[in-house]
Amino acid sequence: MKGITILGSTGSIGQSTLDVLSRHQDKYQLIAITANTCVEQILRQCLQWHPRYAVMADEKSADILRSALSNQAPDVEVLGGQQGLIQVASLPESDYVMAAIVGAAGLLSTLAAAQAGKRILLANKESLVMSGKLFMDAVSANHAQLLPIDSEHNALFQCMPAGFVRGLSQSGVTRIVLTASGGPFRTTALEQLHTVTPEQACLHPNWAMGRKISVDSATMMNKGLEVIEAGWLFNAAPDQIQVVLHPQSVIHSLVEYADGSVLAQLGNPDMRVPIAHALAWPERIASGVKPLDLIATARLDFEQVDLKRFPCLQLATEAMKTGGTATTILNAANEVAVSAFLDGRIQFTEIARIVENALADLKTVAANNLEAILEADLSARMYSTQYIEERVAC
Ligand code: NAD
Ligand code: MG
Repeated sequence: MKGITILGSTGSIGQSTLDVLSRHQDKYQLIAITANTCVEQILRQCLQWHPRYAVMADEKSADILRSALSNQAPDVEVLGGQQGLIQVASLPESDYVMAAIVGAAGLLSTLAAAQAGKRILLANKESLVMSGKLFMDAVSANHAQLLPIDSEHNALFQCMPAGFVRGLSQSGVTRIVLTASGGPFRTTALEQLHTVTPEQACLHPNWAMGRKISVDSATMMNKGLEVIEAGWLFNAAPDQIQVVLHPQSVIHSLVEYADGSVLAQLGNPDMRVPIAHALAWPERIASGVKPLDLIATARLDFEQVDLKRFPCLQLATEAMKTGGTATTILNAANEVAVSAFLDGRIQFTEIARIVENALADLKTVAANNLEAILEADLSARMYSTQYIEERVAC
C-alpha cells in the first residue's frame, strides 16, 4: 500500500487522480488533499475519502473547512497556508506526492516533496520552469523520483530507453519531439486574435483542463513551458527539442534515436493515462480510459508551428537559452497576464507583449538559490501588474 498526497486535489488533474485512485483502493491510500479557497469541493472530497489531512491555502478557508468537518468527519486534520502544504508534501506516511497546484503557488510544496525524497508525480510544470536547476538538484540530492504527468513528458519518459537517467547522447537519443495541438486558435485569422474571449480561449479542442493551462495552450506558452520542462527533465538543449503541431493529440510525443528509429507514445487524450502510468511505474494499472481506436482516429496530421501566430513559444525558447532567472520572469509575467486576460482586463494578444517586455526590461541573474528565484518572480509580477494597470488606465 502506497500513501499519497494530492496537492491541488480539487483541480482538473487532482480530480483525474482521484478517479484513478478510486479504481485501485487496494494499492493506494489517500493521506492528504489540498485546495486553494474552494471549501465546498474539498469538503465533498473529505467526506468521500476520509484523508488524514486536508489543507486550504489560507487560514480563513481552513477555519471554515474545520468547522464544516467537525461534526461529519472530525478525524480529518485541517491545516492552512503554505506551511500546511509543505507539511503534507513531506509526511513520512506519504510515499507519493501528486504536484497538481497550478502556477508558482505550487513551488514550495513541490520542492518540499523533492527535499523529502518522495516519488513526485509532476503536473505543476511551472515549479520546474521557475527553479529548474535547484529543483533537479533537490531531486537527486534526496533520491526523490521524478515522474512526469504532463502528457508529452510522460510520453517521452515512456519512449526513453530503460535505465535512462539523464543525458540524451549517452542513450543514443538524437532529438525529442513534443507534439502540440495548436489549441483553439490554430486556424483563427491572425487579425481576429485580439478579439477572442476567455471563454473561447478555454474551449480546448481535445483536452478538458483548468483555465490557466487552457489559455497557455491557446497562446502556446504551454508548449514553451514544456520545452523548458523537457530541457530539465531529460537534460536536453533547446536545439535537441522540436515542437510539431499535431491537431489530433493522439501522439503525445516522440523520441528519435541515432539509428533513425523514432518511438512514439499514443493514446486517447485523457490525463488519467499519464497519471496511472506514473502511479504504477514500472508496472501498469488500468486508468479507466478507453482503448485507442485507430480506425476511428483514421489520420494523424503534422504541421510546422507558425511563430507569428504563437510568439509565446519563441519567447520561452529564448528565455531557456538565456537561462538563470529568465524562465522565472517568463513564468511570472505570463501568470499575471493570463490572469488579467481571464478577468477581461487585457486582450489575448497582449499576453505575449507583457511577457516580452518583462523579459526585455528585467535583469536576469543566476538562479542557484531560492531567494534569487522568489525575488525574480516577485519583481516580474510587480512589473507586469504595473504594466497592466497603466494600460487599463489609458
Ligand atoms: P486547475 O486550475 O484545474 O486546478 C488547480 C489546483 O490548484 C486546484 O486544486 C486549486 O484549488 C489549487 N490552487 C490554485 N491556486 C492555488 C494557490 N494559490 N494555493 C494553493 N492551491 C492552489 O488546474 P489543472 O488544470 O489541474 O492544472 C494543474 C497543474 O497541472 C498546472 O501546473 C498545469 O500546467 C498542469 N497540467 C495540467 C494538465 C491538465 O490536463 N489539466 C495537463 C498537463 C499539466
Ligand atoms: Mg502537456
